Amino acid sequence: DSRIARITSAIRVIPDFPKPGILFQDITTLLLDPVAFKDTIDLFVERYKDKDISVVAGVEARGFIFGPPIALAIGAKFVPMRKPNKLPGAVISEEYSLEYGTDKIEMHVGAVQEGERALVIDDLIATGGTLCAAISLLERVGVKVVECACVIELPELKVPYSHRSGEIRRQATVC
Ligand code: 5GP
Repeated sequence: DSRIARITSAIRVIPDFPKPGILFQDITTLLLDPVAFKDTIDLFVERYKDKDISVVAGVEARGFIFGPPIALAIGAKFVPMRKPNKLPGAVISEEYSLEYGTDKIEMHVGAVQEGERALVIDDLIATGGTLCAAISLLERVGVKVVECACVIELPELKVPYSHRSGEIRRQATVC
């Protein structure tokens, strides 16, 4: 798809952020290019518009940028999956491992109903730990995760793809 090249070149790569040795993929420059930003949303919408999806779940923080326009375009609700202690109502939470330590994501109780079909959106997949936690959270309340979708996959991690995303692929497809 010719749109991919424009999207790729609109994403800025910043070395040594947030710490030495990390090549940070900065999607804020993609947002500065309305054509590339729209192309990004359109690609997802084309893929998901006829999949009977009623929930788009976006992972904090950059899933909050790409998720809502996709949700509006496919006629689904948007559900934020937030970092701990940010949501004001009752939550369910899921812990996941990081390189050092653990993190957690949370979702409001009652935001989704058993039997709904969800799409999970984030900007980037590295180890897949964040998306696995999002899938588990939704499945715990009886939601079917149709797919997870990200703008960027980090090939430089050099972890075999099947290894890295095996857990995700078992339950959903990453594109
Ligand atoms: P994973 O859980 O797959 O290892 O890491 C993915 C999460 O880390 C995503 O929520 C993503 O936003 C964040 N992340 C890690 N590295 C980068 C990066 O280089 N650029 C951006 N934009 N996000 C990153």
